Amino acid sequence: MKVFYRPEQVGPAQHSSPSAHKPRLVVEDWIRRFGASIEVYNFEPVTEEQIARAHQPDFVKGVLTGTVANGFGNRDRKVADSLAFTSGSMLAAAEYAVLHNEVVCSPTSGFHHAEYRNAGGYCTFNGLMVTALALKDAGLVNRVAILDCDAHYGNGTDSIINRLGIDWIEHYTQGREFGLAYNAANGAYERWLGTAIERCKGCDVVLYQAGADPHIDDPLGGILTTAQMVARDRRVFECLGHLPMVWNLAGGYQVVAGETEAEQIEPVLALHRETARLHIEFFG
Ligand SMILES: [Zn+2]
Repeated sequence: MKVFYRPEQVGPAQHSSPSAHKPRLVVEDWIRRFGASIEVYNFEPVTEEQIARAHQPDFVKGVLTGTVANGFGNRDRKVADSLAFTSGSMLAAAEYAVLHNEVVCSPTSGFHHAEYRNAGGYCTFNGLMVTALALKDAGLVNRVAILDCDAHYGNGTDSIINRLGIDWIEHYTQGREFGLAYNAANGAYERWLGTAIERCKGCDVVLYQAGADPHIDDPLGGILTTAQMVARDRRVFECLGHLPMVWNLAGGYQVVAGETEAEQIEPVLALHRETARLHIEFFG
């Protein structure tokens, strides 16, 4: 399993989000569990110009120079410095996926609430849209699928699609359909996923947000059982794994008592571990 990770993509701990260090903890966990099956790939950060294809240029410059608040509501330069690397991981992974027709992983979060000229909800720049636009600009793809299985509505992605008048992206965001568990019951979630998967099949690349926050025990989600989440990933890999695909981490906010940070977010690590396990089962 190819993982596009470098330490610079990890921002400082944020009181509002317990999982700021999640990319590092997840990659360490996978290497410990899966050993040589995990191949860590280096990559280049995205440029300010690439970010500004998806966002208002003054907003981008303001965040990067610390004059405009980031998605955590502060002006921390350490957050700003990590942003070109989180989007960079997503873009590099997607380029690799397209060029080699493979499924790969970008251990990233914090994209889908970032709107054209506003950060929010722990998201500053929309790496999904930065990636889609860079791939399209480079002539690598015609159509892009964004299958967003984070628990929350990808309002930022819709904001950018609408602002730029984009008609070549298939965007399916679970959070617009299933705010509460009972909405997803009786097969409703599985029917939604099936329809979304069918419509993604006509695309040249799939950006799959394999969020951990839909889990029934997540304080900000609370929708799907562990078995339903494993079935979700299995179905996405089974039905779309013939296409170039990048999956990422998206949200996940369960915290338990523990000595180390990894112990404290073990429920989230466990969910991402299952996605990685399935990836290795399907694609090596
Ligand atoms: Zn979320």
